[in-house]
Amino acid sequence: GVAMAKSKFEYVRDFEADDTCLPQCWVVVRLDGRNFHRFAEKHNFAKPNDSRALHLMNKCAQTVMEELEDIVIAYGQSDEYSFVFRRKSNWFKRRASKFMTHVASQFASSYVFYWKDYFEDQPLLYPPGFDGRVVVYPSNQTLKDYLSWRQADCHINNLYNTVFWALIQQSGLTPVQAKDRLQGTLAADKNEILFSEFKINYNNEPLMYRKGTVLIWQKVDEVTTKEVKLPAEMEGKKMAVTRTRTKPVLLHCDIIGDAFWKEHPEILY
Ligand code: ATP
Ligand code: ATP
Ligand code: MG
Ligand code: MG
Ligand code: MG
Ligand code: MG
Repeated sequence: GVAMAKSKFEYVRDFEADDTCLPQCWVVVRLDGRNFHRFAEKHNFAKPNDSRALHLMNKCAQTVMEELEDIVIAYGQSDEYSFVFRRKSNWFKRRASKFMTHVASQFASSYVFYWKDYFEDQPLLYPPGFDGRVVVYPSNQTLKDYLSWRQADCHINNLYNTVFWALIQQSGLTPVQAKDRLQGTLAADKNEILFSEFKINYNNEPLMYRKGTVLIWQKVDEVTTKEVKLPAEMEGKKMAVTRTRTKPVLLHCDIIGDAFWKEHPEILY
């Protein structure tokens, strides 16, 4: 293009800080809903898990993966989502602020845009926001451990919340009483309370609640109907056409063990 004439003000650009992410490293952007404890209450989220809200989060994450470049895997639970950019990505010259702000704004606008598809009878009462952070991981092991950390967090919180809300909703305890009852209990104790008092086998709770959601690119067959052009005698007829597309696919599987990474070696190639 034509070189722009520089004004005498141009020097202020030099005040911009360099925030290039270290080369050859995994770049992770994690978003988290701002004050979603309140947001969930105001919008009548089911407790402990509102599946509409989780499906909406997943839809936003799929949109982020499709709209932005170079995301190889994403993991979400509760009001948070992590996005991993491939090691060799040179998107926006690896500037951390570009990664983070594009992810956060695309996610937040998608949350509002798709709200009504998931919350049919619940109006959106105010504009939600998301914070973002960037963390750079230098090895496959540290990246796997990061994702394991988020999934372990999902498990710990969900086990706690499942018992906590059963005590409130089914035993009539107040939140303070439920909290006191769970003070100092271990995972085994919580499983035991669930089973003996509520006949709930925690392992039969929905996978999306227990494991969160993993998004990876996979080939899927897409069936569309197309108007037939030829031959002439079939003019105007419609027929099913199958074509293969690569899409962000939702999984609710374990990513802490080795099995997932052995099954999908292409993610961390
Ligand atoms: P902060 O702004 O510091 O993140 P926060 O209120 O969002 O504050 P978090 O630790 O992020 O705090 O917790 C998110 C809260 O949002 C949960 O504790 C829960 O109350 C609510 N929440 C998020 N997703 C869901 C869901 N799918 N179903 C029910 N509640 C949810
Ligand atoms: P990038 O993603 O790199 O920012 P961009 O297409 O947004 O790409 P900008 O340099 O930010 O490029 O320019 C924004 C463009 O958006 C303008 O060149 C113009 O074409 C269009 N635009 C923005 N605001 C208006 C407006 N109020 N009226 C008409 N056009 C606008
Ligand atoms: Mg937070
Ligand atoms: Mg939050
Ligand atoms: Mg959170
Ligand atoms: Mg622009």
